[in-house]
Amino acid sequence: MTETLPIAPWRVFTATVHAVRRLSPSFTRVTFTGADLDRFADNGYDQRIKLALPLPGQRGATLPDGADWYAQWRALPEHLRNPIRTYTVRAVRPHLAEVDIDLVLHGDGGPATRWARRASVGDEIALVGPDAGFDGNHGGVEFRPSAGSCLLLAGDETAVPAIASICERLPLDARGTVLLEVPVADDVLPLAAPPGIEVHWLPRGLDGHGSRLAPAVADAAGKLLAPGTPQAAQPVPDVDVDTEILWEVPEEVAPAPLYAWLAGEAGVIRNLRRHLVAERGLDRRAVAFMGYWRLGQADVA
Ligand SMILES: Cc1cc2nc3c(=O)[nH]c(=O)nc-3n(C[C@H](O)[C@H](O)[C@H](O)COP(=O)(O)OP(=O)(O)OC[C@H]3O[C@@H](n4cnc5c(N)ncnc54)[C@H](O)[C@@H]3O)c2cc1C
Repeated sequence: MTETLPIAPWRVFTATVHAVRRLSPSFTRVTFTGADLDRFADNGYDQRIKLALPLPGQRGATLPDGADWYAQWRALPEHLRNPIRTYTVRAVRPHLAEVDIDLVLHGDGGPATRWARRASVGDEIALVGPDAGFDGNHGGVEFRPSAGSCLLLAGDETAVPAIASICERLPLDARGTVLLEVPVADDVLPLAAPPGIEVHWLPRGLDGHGSRLAPAVADAAGKLLAPGTPQAAQPVPDVDVDTEILWEVPEEVAPAPLYAWLAGEAGVIRNLRRHLVAERGLDRRAVAFMGYWRLGQADVA
């Protein structure tokens, strides 16, 4: 008798580029299709996934298959190991076996941006994503507000896909502020949000990362924190963003008047965390801080 293996929450999908659409100067949308993509779970919000990307000189990318794909991939010699980067699912259409990913074009200095600039219909890469056949929580969704909290969602261009997907699934009576810092004014994209969510796009032009986001977050936090609610400043352990990942996401979110979700360049998020927690006394158990890419440093899987 053959033994049926239990379905794992995540699996490797072979994905073929079905369409490439340049959304703006800094964003390109790649639509993938594939024989199994009807099994890609549509969890929405900020569902993260992994992309395997071509090595120099290759057009496509593959990953070892099976539940131990990661251990197998780690065991490969470096020149045969396709680099992996983390992205957010922008849309899933299981009935068409399609998945959209919006990638920021930030030059030619990393395997993901390099691939995104050249991607064309028919290219094949591998995605690691949630398997709809798994009956349980897949993981990889960090947006977990407590009911009734006012929302502050803020990030740079890499967080635009997540924030746009979150906004699409918010209840109609959601309240709060969305702040999106993007490279240029032409990067402002259509974004559907409930009427109680104020959306501000913040093009930074030639100024540095965070130059628009930091003052806007400080201003919004001041307005969203209920006047008269005492906010005791809390000590906040510093994170060296050059050697550690700044990823502080509460497992159990505390009920609080304000729930915040902040993602982007690690140095910018570190400063926002310091401001919101140490100066304004925001409850760390009601904030997701994700400083997940670092200016000047390539990602490592
Ligand atoms: C949970 C999660 C979700 C994410 N979702 C998305 C998403 O939906 N869309 C998206 O575009 N990104 C997203 N990112 C960010 C993305 O993973 C990083 O930007 C990644 O470093 C890009 O890989 P790369 O191969 O292009 O560059 P790397 O090889 O990692 O880096 C090469 C160089 O490029 C610089 N660099 C990396 N990213 C940027 C950038 N955005 N702008 C300027 N310089 C940069 C690095 O500092 C380094 O100097 C997400 C990250 C995480 C952890």
